[in-house]
Amino acid sequence: MNSPNLFSFSRSLQSGLRLKEAALQAARLARLTRLVEHAYKEVSYYRGLFDSVGFKPGQLRQLSDLRVIPVTTRERLQEIPRDELISRAVRSNRLHVSRTSGSTGTPVALYRTRQEGWLRQSLTLRTFFYNGLRWNDRVVTISRSPSGSSFRWFQKCRASPALWNIWFHEQPEAIIRELQRLQPTVIYGFASNLAIIADLMLRGGIDDVKPRLLATSSDLLTAGYRRLLARAFHSEPLGLYNCTELGDVAWECRRRQGLHVNADWLCVEVLRAGEPVGPGGTGEVVVTPLYRYAMPLIRYSPGDVATVAQEPCACGVTLPMLSQLEGRSQNVVPLPGGRYFAGFSEIMSHYPEIKRYQIVQTALDAFTVRIVPGHEFSPQVSRSIAQVMTERLGDRIRVEVSAVDESDLGARRKSATVIPLHPVDLGSAL
Ligand SMILES: [Zn+2]
Repeated sequence: MNSPNLFSFSRSLQSGLRLKEAALQAARLARLTRLVEHAYKEVSYYRGLFDSVGFKPGQLRQLSDLRVIPVTTRERLQEIPRDELISRAVRSNRLHVSRTSGSTGTPVALYRTRQEGWLRQSLTLRTFFYNGLRWNDRVVTISRSPSGSSFRWFQKCRASPALWNIWFHEQPEAIIRELQRLQPTVIYGFASNLAIIADLMLRGGIDDVKPRLLATSSDLLTAGYRRLLARAFHSEPLGLYNCTELGDVAWECRRRQGLHVNADWLCVEVLRAGEPVGPGGTGEVVVTPLYRYAMPLIRYSPGDVATVAQEPCACGVTLPMLSQLEGRSQNVVPLPGGRYFAGFSEIMSHYPEIKRYQIVQTALDAFTVRIVPGHEFSPQVSRSIAQVMTERLGDRIRVEVSAVDESDLGARRKSATVIPLHPVDLGSAL
């Protein structure tokens, strides 16, 4: 059994925005049934997990029946061998791997087919088109991918948005120059990274980057970031809630009354003590993407906390809403000369040899990286981390890497991954 085909998936997206409650539930149940059957048949981790609670796919009659399946956390996912998570029905050498940005200090590898990558991007495009993306837009993304013009083959077609990417580890000054040169009408990047750029633009009196649409992903778009970005870019930012494992989970529309959940292609539960919370309730987010078959994630908890909205959005989209998202760390640190840095989790995601880490800033120009070695760890890994950190942070910054026991870092969910010298709240003073 394969992931949905791109054509039927794309066709479902537009109508998915406005399905009535019953139709939405029915679509989700059909998609979930198919996924659960596949996972039980082809993925040994899920077969074992379902068997451990006596669950058989045939017992899934309504969406709430899903709740007998235990939740899988990011920490748990990291411990399971790759072969047990990947479907026997796919050839694993054809899969694309991406690693979580490790913002919780626990990097995880995710595998997907090229097709599933497209489905995931289609969901992102739905959000952007709904929020006003046009075919003649000049789009700049600031992401983990290398700098350059993207999808060149795609751009041979004249009626398509022009698309560039800027590597987010470029110096902020260089990113600003590139933005001034490209004059994008759409900018999409990480909230904390864009906030650092916005802060620098305001301080330098740079006022000529004015996208029509400004969207942020990954980390929380705080009230301070919103003010900062709006002032620097002359555009009210839109927040997307996504992560490497799950793709886009929810997104803001221009009314900014909360986040529309992509509930036609994801089952999103908000739980407290294992039970779903009602409107206005706050709890742990647990997600089942319904289009991923190569490495299914069923009842996966990325470690986020959200509040269920009290009422639907006035824009007319019928997808359920989250009113608030909490607890996603931004991990911004101050540097000498009034600079800031926000790229630690991305750097650490390149080291699968590390089980967990914590970065402590001991002075404005000094950091200690505490790592818990995992499989295949060697001293070379520590040297590499120190070297890459120094490259990104600047020559004069001292970086020390030390191996510690897991118990030294404290309980996973409670201990911070990055501890700055002092808290940074960019934009809070505006
Ligand atoms: Zn809306």
